[in-house]
Formats: sequence, structure tokens, C-alpha cells
Amino acid sequence: MKKILFFVSWIISLGMNAQWSNSQEAKVQDILSQMNIEEKVGQMTQINLDVICEGEIYKLVEPHHIDPNKLKEAIEKYHVGSILNCGGHAYPIAQWHEIISGIHQATLAYQQKHTYESKFVPVLYGIDAIHGANYIMGGTLFPQQLGQAATFNPALVQEAARITAYETRAAGIPWNFSPVLDVGRVPTWSRFFETYGEDPYLCSVLGKSCIKGYQGMFGKDNNGEVDEFHVAACMKHFLGYSGARTGKDRTPAYISDIQLKEIYRPSFQAAIDEGALTVMINSGEINGIPVHANPKILIELLRKEMGFQGMAVTDWEDVIKLVNIHHVAENLKDAVALAVNAGIDMCMVPNDYNFTNLLIELVKEGRVSEARLDESVYRILKLKVQLDLFDNPVPFEKNTYPEKMSEQFQQTAVKTAEESITLLENKKGQMGSLPWTNSLDICVVGNAANQLIYQNGAWSRTWQGTDTIWNDPARLTVFSAIKAQNKGETICLLNQWTETAAKKAKRAVKKSDVILVCLGEKPSTEKPGDIDDLNWDKNERQTIKWALSTGKPVVLVMFENRPRLVNDWVDRCAAVVMAYQPGEWGNIALTNILFGKTNPSGKLPFTYPRYNQSLLTYDHKHSEELDTNFGNKAYNPQWPFGHGLSYSDLTYQNLAITEVKTANGNRKWSVNVEVKNNSNLDAKESVLVYKHDRVASITPHVKKLIDFDKELVKANSVAKYSFEIDETDLMFVGANGQMILEPGVWDIYVGNLSSTIEIKP
Ligand code: BGC
Repeated sequence: MKKILFFVSWIISLGMNAQWSNSQEAKVQDILSQMNIEEKVGQMTQINLDVICEGEIYKLVEPHHIDPNKLKEAIEKYHVGSILNCGGHAYPIAQWHEIISGIHQATLAYQQKHTYESKFVPVLYGIDAIHGANYIMGGTLFPQQLGQAATFNPALVQEAARITAYETRAAGIPWNFSPVLDVGRVPTWSRFFETYGEDPYLCSVLGKSCIKGYQGMFGKDNNGEVDEFHVAACMKHFLGYSGARTGKDRTPAYISDIQLKEIYRPSFQAAIDEGALTVMINSGEINGIPVHANPKILIELLRKEMGFQGMAVTDWEDVIKLVNIHHVAENLKDAVALAVNAGIDMCMVPNDYNFTNLLIELVKEGRVSEARLDESVYRILKLKVQLDLFDNPVPFEKNTYPEKMSEQFQQTAVKTAEESITLLENKKGQMGSLPWTNSLDICVVGNAANQLIYQNGAWSRTWQGTDTIWNDPARLTVFSAIKAQNKGETICLLNQWTETAAKKAKRAVKKSDVILVCLGEKPSTEKPGDIDDLNWDKNERQTIKWALSTGKPVVLVMFENRPRLVNDWVDRCAAVVMAYQPGEWGNIALTNILFGKTNPSGKLPFTYPRYNQSLLTYDHKHSEELDTNFGNKAYNPQWPFGHGLSYSDLTYQNLAITEVKTANGNRKWSVNVEVKNNSNLDAKESVLVYKHDRVASITPHVKKLIDFDKELVKANSVAKYSFEIDETDLMFVGANGQMILEPGVWDIYVGNLSSTIEIKP
């Protein structure tokens, strides 16, 4: 799968970071050797910012400020190693500086009370900068991960991550709880939009790009150093978090060994190989065992098999949950012993010091060994050295980060949204179909028409992203973005459907040439995002039905946490556009696409279901296609994985696969294909390469993605794409749990073309 075509040169120009030196190792060992049990346990303790602020937890005094006494207690009494998140909403960058400097000053004050210099251990601050620096006011917001995946453009994903890291570091924060490497297999899941979609290979490639963007180019050996413009990444949530059977957040997953290895593991392995510095553990359970209490996953698999050497942090309150949610521990003390002995390094406690006090007791009683603490504290201290926190704990005092929130960063956000937005249907030639001229009378309706929260989604200035007071009034909504470009009349109606409003709107819409229906799913994540039905909520169903009943051409645009069903309406729409949650620059991108300034190039990174009860992924098994008439029509999604239209007429041609001789005798093939643009418009096209194993000892998938590439296909010309397939791409997880290669014949599908590869016995 090594691409012959490489990403743009700026990726290469970032350069490698310095390796871990003997003096750095000596420093870590020296500090560790001087620490007592209390200090070690403190390093393993992570508290929420609320704990050290004025006011009560979750009810802080506005504007939020550090309470010096609480901070002193955290640092001097409990020696906390890490603090996380914001006190409920985003802060201007100056407020972040006040907080980060305050914490630094407190650690310095503590240091002065001790005679030896190396006792100073900086606090590691961590935050959820999920789709941009979302907890910094004005931080550049990109499409959520699902939208980023639709770009099929690793270079863009890397650049978005680099910008996120830059702005996060500008605030003084060196650690980001991102990316989500959970594979989105269950479309009902409340965190579906946080994934790179349903395919393990796509998640692996984009996850790697994201890690590179966050950390800078980094050593495979996990031994590099992160400079002051980058942050430590945190791959999450290890492992199988997205596989919950019901799709409800943090409910049980039942995952076979084969699925674990084939579906859930590759994206984490790719990130580990890329040098990801930290990992966050899955809050849920797999096959009856909570992952926070499972040494088979946290030690045997993560450390020994997969080779992860970095630091493992729990998720929010997950040690407490071993008692009150999972019921595998009788009390908190047992839970602390269970989790620490299972292999966690740092506990996101986060609202009290019970973990700290109990772990000290457990070590004194011999139920947790001091050697176990040393292992974790070594990893934590090493991370702090890698982030240069000892020598450069408040980088904003030396560097002003002039590029933060710059127009250049915002342009990258527009471009990312443009490449993500996916044209799902377009009845070319029909009234209202896309692209539009900018002289139409357009009526924009729907809950998402004039409201930014639907574009941004959760993790946007607040956790759930629903509070409109945090929207930046300077950013364009769909309505204002269209109005800014359209020379015809643009009106906005019916954001909330009521009988009276609908009647009034029917009269107002008479003059319009087209109705743009903007349906938005209420932003949400984690537990608050659980739903019982994939159908749109009543208000949104009524809005689209109303629009279709007017007899005007209707274009539907969707802003979604996950695919909501549209089967009843699609045939009657002139066009359907998937906008994902494109971020606050996304409406400019959307408008550029509607008016044809930008040719759409996004492709679905998941299978869009047609019905509530048919939620198959594209890589299902043959038996799942068998229908009630014993035909093979049971797999009938609304739109398949990889679907996405262009305004250009693109045709695939000349697929050629040739075997390549290799020095070591391993089998390798080069795959060449051309895409012809039969239009006067430049286009970008992601070419997806799939394999299909005709016969295998473990039932084969109907197809599996093994490579992809996105290129510019100039108007009226042909673009050439080249890929390499090698033996490892043809392997699968065998009955013995190992990757195996069996002789046989594989179909290779590229667009509507196919050819074969054979390995003789
Ligand atoms: C989420 C994590 C997040 C953490 C810290 C948890 O509830 O599951 O993804 O990083 O909170 O905010």
C-alpha cells in the first residue's frame, strides 16, 4: 500500500525531532529516584480544572479564576501531575494564559520550599481540542472527524491537526485528547461523528496523519521530542469503544478476537507506529470485562503485542465507574487496585482526591507495588520531558504565536470543509439541481438554516455544543453565507415548524425558485447523544414534508451527528447534500459548492442506511446479502460507502494490474488506472481500491478497502493513478488469530472496473 504519489512537500519539510538522549533519561531517573510514594501517586492523579477554581464544581464563579488555596492544596498536598479541560466553556486565549501561568507559579512556589532543584515537576495540562482548538474563543474550527474523513485527503487532515496543535500550544496547553481512533461501525452511536468512519484502513491512514499533525514528525520508537508548536496526541478510546451492540454510549460490546484484530486494532497500531505519545482507555466493557480492569488488553495487548511505550490515561471517572456502573468492584479502594494493577498510568479522577488517598494506602498495604507506580510515573515524567515542560512550561511567554486564528488557518478550514461536503444526489437538468446560478430567488428553511450550532456540533466552545451564546456572531450561517453570494432574493423561513408558521411560509415562498432545506441534528456527544430512532425528529420531518408539498424544487442539506434516515424524501429532492458538521467556516464552503465555485469531491466514509433495522457496513459478509426471496438484495443502503458525486462527468478507464519482481521474492503488484474528466470543470477525485477474496478459510468480506488516493483531474483531461499491492494487503486474520495468506484469486475493484490477482498454491 505504499503510494507512489506523495503528499505535498510541506509535510516532508517538517523534519524529524531530536532523539531521546542519555541526559534526558538520566533526568527522569533522577527525579523518579527522589520521589516519595505520595509524590508518585500525585503524578498519577489528574483533576478537573473546576477543582482548583473559585466556586463549586460545575458551578464556578464567572468569570472563572483559579482559587489560590485550592491550587496550593492540589500542588502541595496532593502533588497532582495533571489538570484537564475547561470549566464548562471556552476561554479567550488571555484567560488560558492566566490559568496556565497560575498553575506554573504554584509549582514554582512549591519547588522553592525544597532544597533540590529536580523536585520541580511541571503540571501537564490536557484538553479536548477535537476539531480545532474548540475550547479557545476564536480557535479555528474544522469539520468534525467524520467530515474530515470524507475528504479522503490525509494531507488536509494533517494540516488541520497541525493548526489545532499550534493554537492549543498558543494557549499554553501541550496535550490534546485526540484523535478518536474508534472505528464507526454502529451508525446509531452518539459519537459516530467523532470517528473517521467505518473502515479500519481509512481510520488508520487518517489517524496517522492526524498524529503527525499534532506531534510533528515523530520517531516510530516513541522517543522524539515535541516542539513548542505541537502537542502530545492521545489516541482514544482503547479498545472497542465504538463497538457497543446497541449503539448506546458506554454499553457492552461483544467483540470476537478476529474482529478485534481486524476492525478495532489497526488504527491504534498505525498510531503507535507513528509514535503516538498517549492513549485513553475505553470507558465500556468488552465481552463482560470493563477495559479499565482488563490487563489482557492494557498490558498483554497494548504493551506487549502492540508495542506501546507511552502513557495511558483513564477516561472520565472510569475508576469510580468500576464500582457504580460496572459492578466489578465492591468499593473505590478495590477499584483503584484493579485499575492500577491492570495497567493504567494516570487516573482522570477528576473531581476529588479519593483516588490519590486510596492509592497511597494500597501501596503501603502492599496491594499495589511501588514498582508498578514507578513504571507509570516514569512514563509520565518522560512525557513531560518530551514536551519540554521542565525547560519551557509557558511557551507563550517567549513566543506570540502570530499565526493563530489567522486568515490562512481559516482558509484551510474552508478548504477542508469544501473537500468534505458530499453531493449525494443531483438530478442534473432538473429545476433546482446543482450548481445554481447566483441569480435565483432562494428560500432557506429548517432548524439549521440560520443557526451555527448545527454546523459546529458538540465539542464546540462547550462539551455538548448546544448553547448558542458561544457562537461567534461574526461567522456566517447558511442563510447569511448564501445571501452574501446570491444576487437574487434570499429569504429565511420556518426554522421551527408550527402549523401557523408553515401556512405563512407557503405564501412567502411563492416567489422563490428553489427551497434549500437545512436539517440539523441537535449537537450532542457521549451519553446525552443516545437516540432510540434513526429517523429525523418531528420538527425536521415536518419541515421537509412541508417543503416538498409546496411544489417548488427542493434541495436538502444535512448537518448530522450520524446518518438520519431520508428514504421517504430523496426521490423528490432536486439534490441532496451531506454537510456533516463542517465547522463555523463550513457555510462558506457549502455556499461555494451550491453556486459551483467549488466542485464537490467528498465521499461518504460510511454506509448511509436506508432503514432503521438494516445497518450493514460495506465490508459485510456474503450471507448478509441474502434476502427474503433468496435473492441477494438484502444489502440495500441509501448510499454506499465511498459514494459522492461531482459536477464533472468522470469516467474510469484502463485499469491494469501487473506483477512486480521484488528482490526478496515477496509478491507485489502495481495497479494503474486513469480517470477521465469529460467536462469543462476541474475536479478532484478520490480513487478507492478494494480487494475481494473469492474463497477463504474465514468467510471473506464482499469487499475491503486496501488503498485510496485523491488527485486533481483537470477539465477535459486524464489523470493517472498508481498504487502498489503487496502480499500483506491480501492477508486476513485466520482461525488461529494470526495474519495469514492463502493461495487463491482476488478481485480488485477500482470504480466500476475490476481485474484479478492470483496466488497459486
Ligand atoms: C470522554 C473523552 C474525553 C474526556 C475528557 C470523556 O467523557 O469520553 O473522550 O477526552 O471526557 O473530557
